[in-house]
Amino acid sequence: MNGTLTVPPDLPVRKVYSCFYLHIPHRSPGYPIAEFMVLASAVLGLALRCRVKGRKLNNQSIVALTFISGRAYLIQGKDGWVLADTSSPWNGPRLVRRLERQGIDLSKIRLILLTHGHIDHFGNALRLKARTGAPIAIHELDAEAPRKGRNMPLHPRNTFEKVLGFFASKTRTRGFEPDVLLKGDEGDLEQYGIAAKWVRTPGHTDGSVSIALPGEAALVGDLVVGRFNALKRPAYPFWVKDEHQARESIRKLLDYAPTTFLSGHGGPFKADGVRGLFLEK
Ligand SMILES: [Zn+2]
Ligand SMILES: [Zn+2]
Repeated sequence: MNGTLTVPPDLPVRKVYSCFYLHIPHRSPGYPIAEFMVLASAVLGLALRCRVKGRKLNNQSIVALTFISGRAYLIQGKDGWVLADTSSPWNGPRLVRRLERQGIDLSKIRLILLTHGHIDHFGNALRLKARTGAPIAIHELDAEAPRKGRNMPLHPRNTFEKVLGFFASKTRTRGFEPDVLLKGDEGDLEQYGIAAKWVRTPGHTDGSVSIALPGEAALVGDLVVGRFNALKRPAYPFWVKDEHQARESIRKLLDYAPTTFLSGHGGPFKADGVRGLFLEK
């Protein structure tokens, strides 16, 4: 295995940290990494604040499906749903169960849109594609990650991010070819039934995209995340490739006048809080 770790997508799951409501594939070679992430999160006060149940946000048409290692969102359209991100591989069976429990007809998911090329976001894309028949879309600049089944390069800014990045860079999952490659800086999602646009929002990675629902919300992947000790307060994510680009991306999203920023980790955040952090400090 050349020292790499593989996280098979279909392992049985087993309850490990019941106090955190987590199911992690115990026999997976990725388990030590999952365990490390959980312990690090716990130490930092992250775990106890994570909500794990799917819940509707202030916008009635968006459902958040939260796991400790990555959140997925469902956006309701005219005749079905768009799924934004798919969480980490070891959350796969739980994600499917959660969707079913929400009463979601999986065949009505019309698009699986990945905000960027990190495994905690594309980890169950193949599984969900198999269940829904929906195409998988990602920006072409991050497409190498799902093809190789590994994270896009991580850009640590301190020792903690370096250590975490060492583990994260060893994680592997099954690679796949995305069905839709997003090109350029923005595009319409109308054809998938939602009145929204995808907008390229580099910063965390080059090919990061956000979904802008004008006047309502922006789903931003890891462009903005919750703080360790206050998940409802916005912060820069682990691993920022380019802080200047991140600020410009926030500016771009604010042009769509969202009231709420929905993140892959933590939040939701009020637009004013995000503006204050990125553009006024
Ligand atoms: Zn990420
Ligand atoms: Zn993430």
